[in-house]
Amino acid sequence: MLECTIAGSLPKPSWLAEPDRLWAPWRLAGDDLAAGKRDATLLALKEQEDAGIDIVTDGEQSRQHFVHGFLENIRGIDFGHRVEMGIRADRYKALCPTVTGPLSLAGRVHETEARLARAHTRRRLKFTLPGPMTIADTIADAHYNDRPTLAMALADLLNQEARALEADGIDVIQFDEPAFNVYLEEVGTWGIAALERAAAGLACQTCVHICYGYGISANIAWKRTLGAEWRQYETIFPVLARSRIGQVSLECRNSHVPIELLSLLAGKDVLVGVIDVANEAVETPEEVASLIAEVARYVPIPRLFPCTNCGMAPLPRALASAKLAALGAGSALARQRLA
Ligand code: ZN
Repeated sequence: MLECTIAGSLPKPSWLAEPDRLWAPWRLAGDDLAAGKRDATLLALKEQEDAGIDIVTDGEQSRQHFVHGFLENIRGIDFGHRVEMGIRADRYKALCPTVTGPLSLAGRVHETEARLARAHTRRRLKFTLPGPMTIADTIADAHYNDRPTLAMALADLLNQEARALEADGIDVIQFDEPAFNVYLEEVGTWGIAALERAAAGLACQTCVHICYGYGISANIAWKRTLGAEWRQYETIFPVLARSRIGQVSLECRNSHVPIELLSLLAGKDVLVGVIDVANEAVETPEEVASLIAEVARYVPIPRLFPCTNCGMAPLPRALASAKLAALGAGSALARQRLA
């Protein structure tokens, strides 16, 4: 019980990519880059195991960004044709590649890192993919010209890769859908349908990560506009609770989401963010354990999985390591107390 996991990403070593930033350029190329990704993946697994993380990931060491990493092996996308566009309802700008024709997978996307991770840990292994709505929000489209249609096409490709990841021995496939929290109405009209299509036919555990975004400045500024209580989740939790996705991952540490809203996720496993990824203070095990106890009033303990609020990719590496250790130690403390 109270097995802990992380949202997905960890910072990369500075010899692999420029530190402390998103979309960090690689510092290696060719065979050296492939070897560097492999080494960084092994380090990420080892650090999680040593910190007492029960359900581990590859730390997303092989991808530059959580969305565009998936797109690099897809036909129908022109990476040379990048357009600056406002994403997440124009909260920030990103340089996005363009869909120029019908989408299809040119081959496996994440086989190398998934098999490598599987070969080097006996713990349960989670693998993260971007969700179809979030990809559709992070790409320019000059072909489908309709967001739900584009999302469904992406969902089919995600499903192909997800089934292959399951065959590689992955235990949990998580789709990252930060866009769910931006397009609340569309979640019900086509977002969940696209997500379920991406997860169709999977026998392994499935998860969706939703959140108010990384701790980057555009998100911090946006959060200031949301008022004292964040009730966006009140709209999407009931829709998620009715979906075929098994687990929901979201932030709780320093979040303004009223904690009792978690009871709207009845029937789902909840990956509860007990580690803030947007500040430099390292949580104490005591703080982690007490938040877990508070959440346990609304989420049954067998369904509660302590987790990080979001990915730790943009954090300094030493800070992320300290937060990992706090997550492991705090979860262990909570297990002792709540057993
Ligand atoms: Zn997140």
